[in-house]
Amino acid sequence: MLDTLKKRFEKALGLLKNKGKLTEEDVSEAVREVRRALLEGDVSLKVAKELTQKIKERATQREVLDSITPAQQIQAIVYEELVNLMGGKTSKGIVFAPKPPTVCMMVGLQGAGKTTTCVKIAKKLKGGHKPLVVACDLKRPAAVEQLQILANTAGVGFFGPKAGEGDLKKLIRDAMEYAASRLHDVIILDTAGRLHIDDELMRELVEIKEIASPTEIMLVLDAMTGQEAIRVAEAFHGELALTGLILTKMDGDARGGALLSAKAVADVPVKYIGVGEKLDDIEVFDPEQMAQRILG
Ligand code: GDP
Repeated sequence: MLDTLKKRFEKALGLLKNKGKLTEEDVSEAVREVRRALLEGDVSLKVAKELTQKIKERATQREVLDSITPAQQIQAIVYEELVNLMGGKTSKGIVFAPKPPTVCMMVGLQGAGKTTTCVKIAKKLKGGHKPLVVACDLKRPAAVEQLQILANTAGVGFFGPKAGEGDLKKLIRDAMEYAASRLHDVIILDTAGRLHIDDELMRELVEIKEIASPTEIMLVLDAMTGQEAIRVAEAFHGELALTGLILTKMDGDARGGALLSAKAVADVPVKYIGVGEKLDDIEVFDPEQMAQRILG
């Protein structure tokens, strides 16, 4: 995960180790290297600039340069700034409604990993909750079937449209009633995915939001798509006021751009990361743990 980014950070911070006393120029060189690492990782230019500016300001203060262990102190500053950038200290999962059910609306483009992620989250919650996954795609029976198969494999409740059903409002209301009658306390809506963002999709999602009043609206993004993922996040956030992002395929060779730019650019926290194709391959996103991974 994020191997290139890790190597580049190692190189940047390595410039400072074994040097004993550091000058401002030493720090500037290392910070330039950090910036190169970020840009190579497809982090947005704005985020890379702001982050390195902050690191430089803090790292060139006299008490850091004159300390006995300046390299370690600078490493700690980089760590703290990375944690802040990714959304602060607390790890983020679903926020539950004060009064059940918690409705979690999952949105995203086709292929991002939305259906798999719905079931991964349901499976993760299964211990302490009774989740129900709901197929909301009235146009693609294959998507409905895929959710049903995965839900069966994971042993979580499933609700979907009947063959030929065309009324989205009715489907959502029926799903809510079904959930209430079987005491499901978490309802995860797998909404329709498209290859591109279009007005029809957005209208449909806004309609679902109005009917279901979700506690969480989470956008599933393919981390491998880097800055493009951030543009998708901005577009969805503008229409739906997202509460969180989920970045999938972090097990691949994603360069980190989506993960590191998400909070700063789209102002939505990453709540989960997908780390594989299996139904257990999901983690609640923890900025501190991720910063530790990046800095080794
Ligand atoms: P949807 O069209 O957004 O509903 O996407 P799917 O859930 O059908 O997933 C598309 C593909 O991505 C499938 O082959 C999934 O197994 C795969 N996938 C989803 N999440 C991950 C992940 O975190 N890591 C990897 N390696 N593959 C994933």
